[in-house]
Amino acid sequence: MSENVVVVGSGIIGISCAHYLNRAGFTVTVIDKGALASECSQSNCGYICPSHVPPLTEPGAFGVALKSLFNRRSPFRLKPSFDPALWYWMTHFARRCTHEQVLSAGRHLQVILDASMDEYTHLITQKPLKCEWKEEGLLYVFKSNRQMDSFSKMDHLLSEHFGVSTRRLEGKELISFDPGLRRGLAGGFHYPKDRSVRPELLNREWVDDLKAEGVEFIQNCELQKIRHVGGRIESLLTSAGEIEAERVVFSLGVLTAEWAKELECRIPLQPGKGYSLTMDRPIHAPIHPILIPEHKVAVSPFEKGLRLGSMMEFSGYDSSIPEDRIEQLRDSVRPYLNASVDGEATETWYGWRPMTWDSLPVIGPVPSIRNAFLATGHNMLGLSLAPSTGRLISEMMTGEKPHIDPTPYLPSRF
Ligand SMILES: Cc1cc2nc3c(=O)[nH]c(=O)nc-3n(C[C@H](O)[C@H](O)[C@H](O)COP(=O)(O)OP(=O)(O)OC[C@H]3O[C@@H](n4cnc5c(N)ncnc54)[C@H](O)[C@@H]3O)c2cc1C
Repeated sequence: MSENVVVVGSGIIGISCAHYLNRAGFTVTVIDKGALASECSQSNCGYICPSHVPPLTEPGAFGVALKSLFNRRSPFRLKPSFDPALWYWMTHFARRCTHEQVLSAGRHLQVILDASMDEYTHLITQKPLKCEWKEEGLLYVFKSNRQMDSFSKMDHLLSEHFGVSTRRLEGKELISFDPGLRRGLAGGFHYPKDRSVRPELLNREWVDDLKAEGVEFIQNCELQKIRHVGGRIESLLTSAGEIEAERVVFSLGVLTAEWAKELECRIPLQPGKGYSLTMDRPIHAPIHPILIPEHKVAVSPFEKGLRLGSMMEFSGYDSSIPEDRIEQLRDSVRPYLNASVDGEATETWYGWRPMTWDSLPVIGPVPSIRNAFLATGHNMLGLSLAPSTGRLISEMMTGEKPHIDPTPYLPSRF
């Protein structure tokens, strides 16, 4: 009989790990403490974006975080807190806010972003996953010429250092490119290679496909304790009983950090909270997935809906959805869109992004436990990075030559 692997956590990372492990011939069981894929992977913006190479650690990012202590409407917000873990994390983050770090982390991100896009393209052509896969690219739009000029520096960095190609669109061109945008905007940049999906559909379809292939998914099954002997996990104690495991993948999103002590390794993650608001698709909705850097808001047009998403709050494990944050989403996009965004919300949502201080994911073996692996820390890009993460985990378990160099992402770097 084939070796069994238990994947803990059924977000997009757990689903992808299950896919590649099943393909490699393991017997795979995925457990989740709640409903499947119902945490950070549920209602995000759906962008699969190899253009998102620059890490969060831009020069000046820490200053923005500090200023946000006094500005409740800042999309990037650090909530006043005395939590030592948060400040330890922030200190490491601040140290990395340099141009050199942007280039170095960016290069490592680009490798896994591009590899994941190749995997998605293969997956989507191979399997009939009905997830609103769209090839319209990603459109950045600007109201002011000053912001447009300032972004062109970033665009220059992307093309010069990372070879990411773009098309610059001036005001009038922008309207014919996407009639859903208002007249009078300064312009935009179009990244044609980016893709998008409706994430909750992708999760559901991918899970159904894996179930049909024999992967077992158990929901409402919370990991409560790990039983390990002599540097090897023997079983997992869960709310649904004890589960024996020959190998275990920990893909619990940001909550993976809670298992650092039991796994005897460092997993320095902080929740980076974001929100989304989904409504029925209004008339005159834009064609393209859109990013509005002036307000750091994303607009995701779906076949039957429109989603607005944004914010990066470092506020601990806070699960509230303040009304003013949801209104802020609507206010931010109104000046850019022809469509009304006043429609009733069909869903308001928050997600805790699993944030690392170096903007890189955590993928690989747990240093002191032979049969345990981490797949977490995907920051703002979990959907974009999922396939290559799953493939790496499977390659590490089988001993196959990895399709990309995993060194920058290994848990042992902390
Ligand atoms: C507003 C917003 C917009 C975003 N937009 C994008 C985007 O457009 N593109 C992109 O690439 N990324 C985007 N992201 C980021 C992306 O959503 C995350 O990086 C990704 O979902 C993380 O996936 P995950 O599987 O690691 O974690 P999660 O989806 O959080 O999954 C972890 C799972 O582990 C389970 N779990 C936790 N503890 C236990 C336990 N003890 N026992 C059993 N199960 C447990 C949870 O229930 C959960 O289902 C966005 C995030 C936000 C907040």
